[in-house]
Amino acid sequence: MNTAAAQRDRHGWERLAAAQKPEGRAFINGHYAPARDGRVFDDVSPIDGQVICQVARCGPADVDAAVMAARSTFEQGIWRRTEPRERKRVLRRFAELIRGDIDHLALLETRDVGKPITNSVGVDVANCADCIEYYAEFTDKLYDEVAPTGPNDLALIRREPLGVIGAIVPWNYPLIISAWKLGPALLMGNSVVLKPAEQSPLSGIRLAELACAAGLPPGVFNVVPGLGEEAGQALALHPEVDLIAFTGSTEVGRLMLRYASESNLKRTALELGGKTPQVVFAGADLKAAAYDIAWGIYYNSGETCHAGSRLIAHESVTEELVEEIRAVTATITQGNPLDPTTQMGAVIDQGHMDRVLGFIDSGVASGARIALGGHRALEASGGFYIEATILDGVRPGMKVAREEIFGPVLSVMTFKDETDAVRLANDTPYGLAAAVWTADINVAHRLAGSLRGGTVWVNSFDRSTMATPFGGFKQSGAGRDRSPHAIDKYCDLKTIWTAYR
Ligand code: NAD
Repeated sequence: MNTAAAQRDRHGWERLAAAQKPEGRAFINGHYAPARDGRVFDDVSPIDGQVICQVARCGPADVDAAVMAARSTFEQGIWRRTEPRERKRVLRRFAELIRGDIDHLALLETRDVGKPITNSVGVDVANCADCIEYYAEFTDKLYDEVAPTGPNDLALIRREPLGVIGAIVPWNYPLIISAWKLGPALLMGNSVVLKPAEQSPLSGIRLAELACAAGLPPGVFNVVPGLGEEAGQALALHPEVDLIAFTGSTEVGRLMLRYASESNLKRTALELGGKTPQVVFAGADLKAAAYDIAWGIYYNSGETCHAGSRLIAHESVTEELVEEIRAVTATITQGNPLDPTTQMGAVIDQGHMDRVLGFIDSGVASGARIALGGHRALEASGGFYIEATILDGVRPGMKVAREEIFGPVLSVMTFKDETDAVRLANDTPYGLAAAVWTADINVAHRLAGSLRGGTVWVNSFDRSTMATPFGGFKQSGAGRDRSPHAIDKYCDLKTIWTAYR
Protein backbone atom coordinates (compact mmCIF):
# COMPACT_ATOMS: atom_id res chain seq x y z
CA MET A 1 0.00 0.00 0.00
CA ASN A 2 1.34 3.51 -0.71
CA THR A 3 2.19 5.54 2.37
CA ALA A 4 -0.70 8.01 2.27
CA ALA A 5 -3.23 5.24 1.69
CA ALA A 6 -1.72 3.12 4.48
CA GLN A 7 -2.08 5.96 6.99
CA ARG A 8 -5.67 6.85 6.17
CA ASP A 9 -8.40 5.63 8.54
CA ARG A 10 -12.09 5.15 7.80
CA HIS A 11 -12.87 8.83 8.32
CA GLY A 12 -10.06 9.76 5.97
CA TRP A 13 -11.47 7.53 3.25
CA GLU A 14 -15.00 8.78 3.91
CA ARG A 15 -13.81 12.39 3.57
CA LEU A 16 -12.13 11.50 0.27
CA ALA A 17 -15.29 9.76 -0.91
CA ALA A 18 -17.43 12.78 -0.03
CA ALA A 19 -15.13 15.02 -2.10
CA GLN A 20 -14.79 12.57 -5.00
CA LYS A 21 -16.50 13.51 -8.26
CA PRO A 22 -16.66 10.34 -10.34
CA GLU A 23 -16.98 10.69 -14.10
CA GLY A 24 -19.97 8.77 -15.45
CA ARG A 25 -19.86 9.67 -19.15
CA ALA A 26 -18.68 7.45 -21.96
CA PHE A 27 -15.15 7.95 -23.29
CA ILE A 28 -15.12 7.95 -27.09
CA ASN A 29 -12.32 9.02 -29.42
CA GLY A 30 -10.40 10.72 -26.63
CA HIS A 31 -13.34 12.69 -25.17
CA TYR A 32 -16.01 12.28 -22.56
CA ALA A 33 -19.49 12.12 -24.04
CA PRO A 34 -22.99 11.69 -22.63
CA ALA A 35 -25.26 9.06 -24.23
CA ARG A 36 -26.57 10.49 -27.51
CA ASP A 37 -30.16 10.28 -26.31
CA GLY A 38 -29.18 11.73 -22.90
CA ARG A 39 -30.21 8.65 -20.96
CA VAL A 40 -28.50 7.82 -17.65
CA PHE A 41 -28.78 5.20 -14.93
CA ASP A 42 -28.08 5.39 -11.20
CA ASP A 43 -24.84 3.84 -10.00
CA VAL A 44 -25.68 2.51 -6.52
CA SER A 45 -23.03 1.68 -3.91
CA PRO A 46 -23.49 -1.63 -2.09
CA ILE A 47 -21.79 -0.05 0.94
CA ASP A 48 -24.94 1.84 1.92
CA GLY A 49 -27.43 1.55 -0.93
CA GLN A 50 -26.87 5.22 -1.86
CA VAL A 51 -26.50 6.56 -5.40
CA ILE A 52 -22.85 7.44 -6.15
CA CYS A 53 -23.55 9.24 -9.42
CA GLN A 54 -25.42 8.95 -12.67
CA VAL A 55 -23.83 7.10 -15.54
CA ALA A 56 -24.38 7.36 -19.30
CA ARG A 57 -26.74 4.64 -20.48
CA CYS A 58 -25.12 4.00 -23.83
CA GLY A 59 -27.19 2.45 -26.58
CA PRO A 60 -26.47 1.18 -30.10
CA ALA A 61 -25.71 4.69 -31.48
CA ASP A 62 -23.05 5.32 -28.82
CA VAL A 63 -21.56 1.87 -29.29
CA ASP A 64 -21.46 2.47 -33.04
CA ALA A 65 -19.62 5.78 -32.52
CA ALA A 66 -17.08 4.09 -30.26
CA VAL A 67 -16.55 1.13 -32.59
CA MET A 68 -16.16 3.37 -35.63
CA ALA A 69 -13.63 5.56 -33.77
CA ALA A 70 -11.73 2.40 -32.87
CA ARG A 71 -11.96 1.11 -36.45
CA SER A 72 -10.81 4.36 -37.98
CA THR A 73 -7.79 4.63 -35.66
CA PHE A 74 -6.90 1.04 -36.41
CA GLU A 75 -7.18 1.43 -40.19
CA GLN A 76 -5.06 4.56 -40.12
CA GLY A 77 -2.41 2.56 -38.26
CA ILE A 78 -1.90 5.34 -35.72
CA TRP A 79 -1.17 2.95 -32.88
CA ARG A 80 -0.31 -0.35 -34.53
CA ARG A 81 2.37 1.25 -36.74
CA THR A 82 3.96 3.14 -33.88
CA GLU A 83 7.50 1.91 -33.15
CA PRO A 84 7.41 -0.98 -30.64
CA ARG A 85 9.72 0.91 -28.25
CA GLU A 86 7.40 3.89 -28.25
CA ARG A 87 4.34 1.70 -27.68
CA LYS A 88 6.19 0.21 -24.72
CA ARG A 89 6.87 3.68 -23.32
CA VAL A 90 3.21 4.64 -23.61
CA LEU A 91 1.98 1.44 -21.94
CA ARG A 92 4.55 1.77 -19.16
CA ARG A 93 3.45 5.37 -18.61
CA PHE A 94 -0.14 4.14 -18.48
CA ALA A 95 0.85 1.67 -15.72
CA GLU A 96 2.62 4.46 -13.82
CA LEU A 97 -0.40 6.77 -14.10
CA ILE A 98 -2.60 3.96 -12.71
CA ARG A 99 -0.23 3.66 -9.73
CA GLY A 100 -0.20 7.43 -9.29
CA ASP A 101 -4.01 7.49 -9.24
CA ILE A 102 -4.25 4.79 -6.59
CA ASP A 103 -6.43 6.66 -4.08
CA HIS A 104 -8.99 7.75 -6.64
CA LEU A 105 -9.15 4.40 -8.46
CA ALA A 106 -9.27 2.33 -5.27
CA LEU A 107 -12.05 4.50 -3.91
CA LEU A 108 -14.06 4.15 -7.13
CA GLU A 109 -13.62 0.37 -6.99
CA THR A 110 -14.60 0.08 -3.34
CA ARG A 111 -17.61 2.38 -3.68
CA ASP A 112 -18.83 0.54 -6.79
CA VAL A 113 -18.18 -3.05 -5.71
CA GLY A 114 -18.27 -2.88 -1.88
CA LYS A 115 -14.89 -4.59 -1.53
CA PRO A 116 -12.55 -3.62 1.34
CA ILE A 117 -10.51 -0.50 0.55
CA THR A 118 -7.35 -2.32 1.66
CA ASN A 119 -7.92 -4.87 -1.11
CA SER A 120 -8.73 -2.24 -3.73
CA VAL A 121 -5.46 -0.48 -2.94
CA GLY A 122 -3.21 -3.49 -2.43
CA VAL A 123 -4.69 -5.95 -4.93
CA ASP A 124 -7.01 -4.43 -7.54
CA VAL A 125 -5.18 -1.22 -8.45
CA ALA A 126 -1.76 -2.80 -7.94
CA ASN A 127 -2.53 -5.84 -10.13
CA CYS A 128 -4.13 -3.68 -12.81
CA ALA A 129 -0.95 -1.60 -13.13
CA ASP A 130 1.28 -4.68 -12.96
CA CYS A 131 -0.69 -6.32 -15.77
CA ILE A 132 -0.35 -3.34 -18.12
CA GLU A 133 3.36 -3.16 -17.32
CA TYR A 134 3.78 -6.90 -17.87
CA TYR A 135 2.39 -6.70 -21.41
CA ALA A 136 4.21 -3.42 -22.13
CA GLU A 137 7.44 -5.37 -21.80
CA PHE A 138 6.48 -7.73 -24.65
CA THR A 139 6.04 -4.88 -27.09
CA ASP A 140 9.67 -4.80 -28.21
CA LYS A 141 10.55 -8.38 -27.32
CA LEU A 142 8.11 -10.50 -29.33
CA TYR A 143 9.63 -12.10 -32.40
CA ASP A 144 7.79 -13.64 -35.31
CA GLU A 145 8.81 -16.89 -37.05
CA VAL A 146 10.54 -18.12 -40.17
CA ALA A 147 9.20 -21.49 -41.33
CA PRO A 148 11.53 -24.25 -42.53
CA THR A 149 11.24 -24.31 -46.34
CA GLY A 150 13.30 -25.29 -49.41
CA PRO A 151 16.37 -23.24 -50.43
CA ASN A 152 14.59 -20.84 -52.80
CA ASP A 153 11.73 -19.86 -50.57
CA LEU A 154 11.28 -17.66 -47.53
CA ALA A 155 8.13 -18.14 -45.46
CA LEU A 156 7.57 -15.63 -42.69
CA ILE A 157 4.87 -16.28 -40.11
CA ARG A 158 3.82 -12.96 -38.69
CA ARG A 159 1.46 -12.02 -35.91
CA GLU A 160 -0.90 -9.24 -36.89
CA PRO A 161 -3.37 -7.39 -34.67
CA LEU A 162 -7.01 -8.39 -35.15
CA GLY A 163 -8.50 -4.91 -35.35
CA VAL A 164 -11.29 -3.81 -32.99
CA ILE A 165 -11.65 -5.68 -29.71
CA GLY A 166 -14.94 -5.50 -27.81
CA ALA A 167 -14.17 -6.19 -24.16
CA ILE A 168 -17.19 -6.97 -21.95
CA VAL A 169 -16.34 -7.39 -18.28
CA PRO A 170 -18.12 -8.27 -15.00
CA TRP A 171 -18.40 -6.35 -11.75
CA ASN A 172 -16.34 -8.42 -9.33
CA TYR A 173 -12.82 -7.29 -10.35
CA PRO A 174 -13.44 -4.44 -12.82
CA LEU A 175 -9.90 -3.06 -12.87
CA ILE A 176 -8.06 -6.37 -12.96
CA ILE A 177 -10.23 -8.04 -15.58
CA SER A 178 -10.24 -4.95 -17.81
CA ALA A 179 -6.44 -4.91 -17.59
CA TRP A 180 -6.27 -8.61 -18.52
CA LYS A 181 -7.96 -7.67 -21.82
CA LEU A 182 -6.34 -4.28 -22.37
CA GLY A 183 -2.73 -5.37 -21.81
CA PRO A 184 -2.42 -7.98 -24.58
CA ALA A 185 -4.88 -6.20 -26.90
CA LEU A 186 -2.98 -2.88 -26.80
CA LEU A 187 0.42 -4.54 -26.93
CA MET A 188 -0.53 -6.05 -30.29
CA GLY A 189 -1.72 -2.69 -31.68
CA ASN A 190 -5.48 -3.34 -31.58
CA SER A 191 -8.14 -0.77 -30.71
CA VAL A 192 -10.48 -1.51 -27.81
CA VAL A 193 -14.07 -0.70 -26.87
CA LEU A 194 -14.66 -1.61 -23.23
CA LYS A 195 -18.17 -2.24 -21.85
CA PRO A 196 -17.91 -2.32 -18.05
CA ALA A 197 -20.62 -3.95 -15.96
CA GLU A 198 -23.50 -1.62 -15.09
CA GLN A 199 -22.89 -2.25 -11.38
CA SER A 200 -19.27 -1.05 -11.54
CA PRO A 201 -18.60 1.29 -14.48
CA LEU A 202 -16.48 3.98 -12.82
CA SER A 203 -12.94 2.59 -12.73
CA GLY A 204 -13.08 1.55 -16.41
CA ILE A 205 -14.07 5.07 -17.45
CA ARG A 206 -11.17 6.45 -15.42
CA LEU A 207 -8.73 4.00 -17.01
CA ALA A 208 -9.51 5.38 -20.46
CA GLU A 209 -8.69 8.91 -19.36
CA LEU A 210 -5.40 7.75 -17.82
CA ALA A 211 -4.48 5.82 -20.98
CA CYS A 212 -5.07 8.92 -23.07
CA ALA A 213 -2.99 11.02 -20.68
CA ALA A 214 -0.21 8.44 -21.06
CA GLY A 215 -0.13 9.09 -24.79
CA LEU A 216 -2.42 6.41 -26.21
CA PRO A 217 -3.88 8.02 -29.35
CA PRO A 218 -7.58 8.99 -29.26
CA GLY A 219 -9.86 6.20 -30.46
CA VAL A 220 -7.56 3.37 -29.40
CA PHE A 221 -9.29 2.83 -26.05
CA ASN A 222 -12.98 3.74 -25.71
CA VAL A 223 -15.45 3.00 -22.92
CA VAL A 224 -19.22 2.63 -23.31
CA PRO A 225 -20.98 2.18 -19.97
CA GLY A 226 -24.51 0.82 -20.11
CA LEU A 227 -26.72 -2.17 -19.59
CA GLY A 228 -25.82 -5.65 -20.81
CA GLU A 229 -28.86 -6.08 -23.05
CA GLU A 230 -28.30 -2.63 -24.57
CA ALA A 231 -24.66 -1.54 -24.82
CA GLY A 232 -23.29 -5.08 -24.34
CA GLN A 233 -25.51 -6.63 -26.96
CA ALA A 234 -24.88 -3.80 -29.46
CA LEU A 235 -21.12 -4.26 -29.05
CA ALA A 236 -21.25 -8.04 -29.41
CA LEU A 237 -23.45 -7.80 -32.52
CA HIS A 238 -21.46 -5.01 -34.17
CA PRO A 239 -20.11 -6.06 -37.59
CA GLU A 240 -16.93 -3.98 -37.19
CA VAL A 241 -15.84 -5.77 -34.00
CA ASP A 242 -13.32 -8.54 -34.68
CA LEU A 243 -13.22 -10.22 -31.27
CA ILE A 244 -15.43 -10.18 -28.21
CA ALA A 245 -13.25 -10.77 -25.17
CA PHE A 246 -15.89 -11.61 -22.59
CA THR A 247 -15.69 -12.34 -18.89
CA GLY A 248 -18.91 -13.05 -17.05
CA SER A 249 -21.50 -15.72 -16.44
CA THR A 250 -21.75 -18.91 -18.47
CA GLU A 251 -25.34 -17.94 -19.34
CA VAL A 252 -24.31 -14.65 -20.98
CA GLY A 253 -21.20 -16.33 -22.45
CA ARG A 254 -23.55 -18.55 -24.45
CA LEU A 255 -25.20 -15.41 -25.86
CA MET A 256 -21.81 -14.18 -27.08
CA LEU A 257 -21.52 -17.24 -29.33
CA ARG A 258 -25.00 -16.53 -30.65
CA TYR A 259 -24.26 -12.85 -31.30
CA ALA A 260 -21.06 -13.82 -33.12
CA SER A 261 -22.87 -16.26 -35.37
CA GLU A 262 -25.71 -13.81 -36.03
CA SER A 263 -23.34 -11.00 -37.02
CA ASN A 264 -19.90 -11.27 -38.61
CA LEU A 265 -18.61 -14.55 -37.14
CA LYS A 266 -16.36 -12.48 -34.91
CA ARG A 267 -14.12 -14.46 -32.63
CA THR A 268 -15.06 -14.96 -29.02
CA ALA A 269 -12.84 -15.47 -26.00
CA LEU A 270 -14.86 -16.58 -22.99
CA GLU A 271 -13.91 -16.51 -19.31
CA LEU A 272 -16.96 -17.81 -17.47
CA GLY A 273 -18.22 -19.12 -14.15
CA GLY A 274 -16.84 -21.70 -11.74
CA LYS A 275 -17.62 -24.02 -8.85
CA THR A 276 -14.14 -24.79 -7.60
CA PRO A 277 -13.66 -27.86 -5.38
CA GLN A 278 -11.24 -27.96 -2.45
CA VAL A 279 -10.50 -31.70 -2.07
CA VAL A 280 -9.02 -32.57 1.33
CA PHE A 281 -7.58 -36.01 2.11
CA ALA A 282 -6.97 -37.56 5.53
CA GLY A 283 -3.39 -36.79 6.58
CA ALA A 284 -3.38 -33.32 4.97
CA ASP A 285 -2.27 -30.31 7.01
CA LEU A 286 -5.76 -29.34 8.15
CA LYS A 287 -4.77 -26.02 9.69
CA ALA A 288 -3.12 -24.82 6.49
CA ALA A 289 -6.05 -26.13 4.44
CA ALA A 290 -8.62 -24.45 6.73
CA TYR A 291 -6.89 -21.09 6.38
CA ASP A 292 -6.84 -21.21 2.58
CA ILE A 293 -10.34 -22.69 2.36
CA ALA A 294 -11.81 -19.89 4.51
CA TRP A 295 -10.04 -17.13 2.58
CA GLY A 296 -10.66 -18.96 -0.68
CA ILE A 297 -14.41 -18.54 -0.28
CA TYR A 298 -14.77 -15.37 1.81
CA TYR A 299 -12.26 -13.14 0.01
CA ASN A 300 -14.19 -10.55 -2.03
CA SER A 301 -17.35 -11.88 -0.32
CA GLY A 302 -17.12 -15.04 -2.41
CA GLU A 303 -17.62 -13.00 -5.59
CA THR A 304 -14.66 -14.58 -7.34
CA CYS A 305 -15.07 -16.83 -10.38
CA HIS A 306 -12.64 -19.41 -9.00
CA ALA A 307 -13.77 -19.09 -5.34
CA GLY A 308 -13.33 -22.45 -3.59
CA SER A 309 -17.05 -22.85 -3.07
CA ARG A 310 -17.17 -26.63 -2.59
CA LEU A 311 -15.32 -28.40 0.21
CA ILE A 312 -15.01 -32.10 -0.57
CA ALA A 313 -13.38 -33.67 2.48
CA HIS A 314 -12.60 -37.23 3.49
CA GLU A 315 -15.29 -38.39 5.92
CA SER A 316 -12.71 -39.01 8.67
CA VAL A 317 -11.55 -35.35 8.76
CA THR A 318 -14.66 -33.36 7.77
CA GLU A 319 -15.80 -32.50 11.28
CA GLU A 320 -12.38 -31.36 12.49
CA LEU A 321 -11.79 -29.40 9.27
CA VAL A 322 -15.11 -27.56 9.45
CA GLU A 323 -14.26 -26.64 13.05
CA GLU A 324 -10.89 -25.25 11.91
CA ILE A 325 -12.56 -23.27 9.09
CA ARG A 326 -15.02 -21.79 11.58
CA ALA A 327 -12.09 -20.75 13.78
CA VAL A 328 -10.32 -19.00 10.87
CA THR A 329 -13.57 -17.34 9.77
CA ALA A 330 -14.09 -15.96 13.27
CA THR A 331 -10.96 -13.85 12.71
CA ILE A 332 -12.26 -12.29 9.45
CA THR A 333 -13.67 -8.84 10.15
CA GLN A 334 -16.77 -7.93 8.19
CA GLY A 335 -17.69 -4.26 8.11
CA ASN A 336 -17.77 -1.00 6.23
CA PRO A 337 -15.49 -1.41 3.20
CA LEU A 338 -14.06 2.10 3.70
CA ASP A 339 -12.64 1.03 7.06
CA PRO A 340 -9.08 -0.24 6.48
CA THR A 341 -9.56 -2.89 9.18
CA THR A 342 -12.46 -4.47 7.23
CA GLN A 343 -11.54 -7.75 5.54
CA MET A 344 -14.93 -8.72 4.13
CA GLY A 345 -17.30 -6.13 2.69
CA ALA A 346 -20.63 -6.15 0.89
CA VAL A 347 -22.04 -8.12 -2.03
CA ILE A 348 -22.72 -6.24 -5.23
CA ASP A 349 -26.42 -5.28 -4.99
CA GLN A 350 -29.80 -6.01 -3.48
CA GLY A 351 -30.77 -8.44 -6.26
CA HIS A 352 -27.59 -10.46 -5.88
CA MET A 353 -27.91 -10.48 -2.09
CA ASP A 354 -31.43 -11.87 -2.38
CA ARG A 355 -30.21 -14.47 -4.87
CA VAL A 356 -27.40 -15.65 -2.56
CA LEU A 357 -29.76 -15.80 0.45
CA GLY A 358 -32.16 -17.78 -1.78
CA PHE A 359 -29.40 -20.33 -2.42
CA ILE A 360 -28.86 -20.71 1.33
CA ASP A 361 -32.61 -21.26 1.82
CA SER A 362 -32.66 -23.81 -0.99
CA GLY A 363 -29.75 -25.70 0.58
CA VAL A 364 -31.55 -25.86 3.91
CA ALA A 365 -34.83 -26.88 2.25
CA SER A 366 -33.08 -29.75 0.51
CA GLY A 367 -31.49 -31.05 3.71
CA ALA A 368 -28.20 -29.17 4.26
CA ARG A 369 -27.42 -27.69 7.71
CA ILE A 370 -26.15 -24.19 8.41
CA ALA A 371 -22.86 -24.68 10.29
CA LEU A 372 -22.05 -20.94 10.24
CA GLY A 373 -23.76 -17.67 9.30
CA GLY A 374 -26.62 -17.95 6.85
CA HIS A 375 -28.11 -14.45 7.20
CA ARG A 376 -28.01 -10.92 5.96
CA ALA A 377 -25.56 -8.79 7.97
CA LEU A 378 -25.15 -5.09 8.85
CA GLU A 379 -28.67 -4.31 7.66
CA ALA A 380 -28.79 -0.93 9.42
CA SER A 381 -26.06 0.33 7.06
CA GLY A 382 -28.57 0.29 4.19
CA GLY A 383 -26.01 -1.77 2.26
CA PHE A 384 -25.96 -5.38 1.11
CA TYR A 385 -23.99 -7.72 3.36
CA ILE A 386 -24.15 -11.47 3.96
CA GLU A 387 -22.53 -13.40 6.81
CA ALA A 388 -19.74 -15.85 6.03
CA THR A 389 -21.72 -19.06 5.68
CA ILE A 390 -21.00 -22.78 5.81
CA LEU A 391 -23.58 -25.28 4.55
CA ASP A 392 -22.77 -28.73 5.92
CA GLY A 393 -24.23 -32.07 4.80
CA VAL A 394 -24.56 -31.02 1.16
CA ARG A 395 -25.31 -33.88 -1.27
CA PRO A 396 -24.24 -34.01 -4.94
CA GLY A 397 -27.66 -33.46 -6.52
CA MET A 398 -28.43 -30.26 -4.57
CA LYS A 399 -28.51 -26.87 -6.30
CA VAL A 400 -25.89 -25.57 -3.83
CA ALA A 401 -23.55 -28.38 -4.91
CA ARG A 402 -23.84 -27.73 -8.64
CA GLU A 403 -24.70 -24.09 -9.36
CA GLU A 404 -22.49 -21.04 -8.95
CA ILE A 405 -23.69 -19.11 -5.87
CA PHE A 406 -21.11 -16.32 -6.22
CA GLY A 407 -21.36 -15.31 -2.58
CA PRO A 408 -19.76 -16.13 0.79
CA VAL A 409 -21.21 -19.64 1.00
CA LEU A 410 -19.16 -22.83 1.39
CA SER A 411 -20.92 -26.11 0.53
CA VAL A 412 -19.47 -29.08 2.43
CA MET A 413 -19.55 -32.63 1.05
CA THR A 414 -17.71 -35.79 2.09
CA PHE A 415 -16.02 -38.64 0.23
CA LYS A 416 -15.02 -42.17 1.12
CA ASP A 417 -12.16 -42.92 -1.30
CA GLU A 418 -10.12 -41.32 -4.06
CA THR A 419 -12.41 -42.41 -6.90
CA ASP A 420 -15.35 -40.92 -5.06
CA ALA A 421 -13.40 -37.68 -4.47
CA VAL A 422 -12.55 -37.24 -8.16
CA ARG A 423 -16.10 -38.05 -9.26
CA LEU A 424 -17.59 -35.48 -6.85
CA ALA A 425 -15.00 -32.82 -7.69
CA ASN A 426 -15.63 -33.11 -11.44
CA ASP A 427 -19.40 -33.37 -11.09
CA THR A 428 -20.37 -29.86 -12.24
CA PRO A 429 -20.59 -28.23 -15.68
CA TYR A 430 -17.66 -26.00 -14.67
CA GLY A 431 -13.90 -26.52 -14.83
CA LEU A 432 -12.22 -23.28 -13.87
CA ALA A 433 -9.97 -24.46 -11.04
CA ALA A 434 -9.53 -27.07 -8.30
CA ALA A 435 -7.35 -27.68 -5.26
CA VAL A 436 -6.13 -30.83 -3.58
CA TRP A 437 -4.81 -31.07 -0.04
CA THR A 438 -2.80 -34.20 0.78
CA ALA A 439 0.43 -35.34 2.43
CA ASP A 440 0.84 -38.08 -0.19
CA ILE A 441 2.76 -36.99 -3.29
CA ASN A 442 1.25 -39.83 -5.30
CA VAL A 443 -2.28 -38.68 -4.52
CA ALA A 444 -1.24 -35.09 -5.31
CA HIS A 445 -0.01 -36.00 -8.80
CA ARG A 446 -2.88 -38.34 -9.57
CA LEU A 447 -5.43 -35.71 -8.59
CA ALA A 448 -3.62 -32.91 -10.41
CA GLY A 449 -4.01 -35.04 -13.52
CA SER A 450 -7.62 -36.09 -13.07
CA LEU A 451 -9.24 -32.90 -11.77
CA ARG A 452 -10.77 -30.99 -14.69
CA GLY A 453 -9.76 -27.36 -14.28
CA GLY A 454 -7.62 -24.68 -15.93
CA THR A 455 -5.63 -24.43 -12.67
CA VAL A 456 -5.07 -27.11 -10.03
CA TRP A 457 -3.47 -25.98 -6.79
CA VAL A 458 -1.69 -28.55 -4.63
CA ASN A 459 -1.57 -27.82 -0.90
CA SER A 460 -2.30 -24.17 -1.66
CA PHE A 461 -5.03 -21.98 -3.05
CA ASP A 462 -5.27 -18.93 -5.29
CA ARG A 463 -1.55 -18.51 -5.78
CA SER A 464 -0.82 -16.91 -9.14
CA THR A 465 1.13 -14.25 -10.98
CA MET A 466 0.83 -12.64 -14.39
CA ALA A 467 3.18 -15.38 -15.61
CA THR A 468 0.57 -18.16 -15.35
CA PRO A 469 -2.43 -18.50 -17.67
CA PHE A 470 -5.92 -18.31 -16.21
CA GLY A 471 -9.11 -19.72 -17.69
CA GLY A 472 -11.41 -22.67 -17.78
CA PHE A 473 -12.11 -26.17 -19.00
CA LYS A 474 -15.68 -27.27 -19.83
CA GLN A 475 -18.34 -24.56 -19.44
CA SER A 476 -15.95 -22.25 -17.59
CA GLY A 477 -14.83 -20.88 -20.93
CA ALA A 478 -12.45 -21.02 -23.83
CA GLY A 479 -9.16 -19.16 -24.04
CA ARG A 480 -6.80 -17.89 -21.38
CA ASP A 481 -6.13 -14.53 -19.75
CA ARG A 482 -2.67 -13.63 -18.33
CA SER A 483 0.74 -14.93 -19.39
CA PRO A 484 2.17 -14.88 -22.94
CA HIS A 485 -0.59 -17.32 -23.98
CA ALA A 486 -3.21 -14.56 -23.71
CA ILE A 487 -1.51 -12.67 -26.55
CA ASP A 488 -2.60 -15.33 -29.07
CA LYS A 489 -6.25 -14.26 -28.71
CA TYR A 490 -5.52 -10.73 -29.85
CA CYS A 491 -3.69 -11.48 -33.08
CA ASP A 492 -3.94 -13.40 -36.28
CA LEU A 493 -1.21 -15.28 -38.11
CA LYS A 494 -0.17 -14.25 -41.60
CA THR A 495 2.15 -16.30 -43.80
CA ILE A 496 4.22 -14.26 -46.23
CA TRP A 497 5.79 -16.61 -48.78
CA THR A 498 8.50 -15.25 -51.04
CA ALA A 499 10.16 -17.25 -53.80
CA TYR A 500 13.60 -16.07 -54.88
CA ARG A 501 16.39 -17.14 -57.22
P1 NAD B 1 -22.84 -11.29 -16.36
O1 NAD B 1 -22.63 -12.39 -17.33
O2 NAD B 1 -24.19 -11.02 -15.88
O3 NAD B 1 -22.31 -9.90 -16.96
C1 NAD B 1 -21.01 -9.77 -17.48
C2 NAD B 1 -20.99 -8.63 -18.48
O4 NAD B 1 -21.85 -8.97 -19.55
C3 NAD B 1 -21.51 -7.30 -17.92
O5 NAD B 1 -20.77 -6.24 -18.47
C4 NAD B 1 -22.94 -7.25 -18.43
O6 NAD B 1 -23.44 -5.95 -18.59
C5 NAD B 1 -22.79 -7.93 -19.78
N1 NAD B 1 -24.05 -8.52 -20.27
C6 NAD B 1 -25.07 -9.02 -19.55
N2 NAD B 1 -26.06 -9.43 -20.37
C7 NAD B 1 -25.64 -9.20 -21.64
C8 NAD B 1 -26.20 -9.41 -22.92
N3 NAD B 1 -27.42 -9.93 -23.07
N4 NAD B 1 -25.48 -9.05 -24.01
C9 NAD B 1 -24.25 -8.51 -23.88
N5 NAD B 1 -23.67 -8.27 -22.68
C10 NAD B 1 -24.34 -8.62 -21.58
O7 NAD B 1 -21.82 -11.58 -15.16
P2 NAD B 1 -21.63 -10.73 -13.83
O8 NAD B 1 -22.81 -10.99 -12.95
O9 NAD B 1 -21.24 -9.34 -14.14
O10 NAD B 1 -20.31 -11.43 -13.22
C11 NAD B 1 -20.33 -12.60 -12.53
C12 NAD B 1 -19.96 -13.78 -13.41
O11 NAD B 1 -18.69 -13.57 -14.03
C13 NAD B 1 -19.81 -15.05 -12.61
O12 NAD B 1 -20.41 -16.12 -13.31
C14 NAD B 1 -18.30 -15.25 -12.53
O13 NAD B 1 -17.90 -16.57 -12.32
C15 NAD B 1 -17.88 -14.74 -13.86
N6 NAD B 1 -16.46 -14.39 -13.86
C16 NAD B 1 -15.57 -15.18 -14.54
C17 NAD B 1 -14.20 -14.90 -14.50
C18 NAD B 1 -13.19 -15.76 -15.24
O14 NAD B 1 -12.07 -15.27 -15.44
N7 NAD B 1 -13.52 -16.94 -15.65
C19 NAD B 1 -13.74 -13.80 -13.76
C20 NAD B 1 -14.68 -13.02 -13.07
C21 NAD B 1 -16.03 -13.32 -13.13
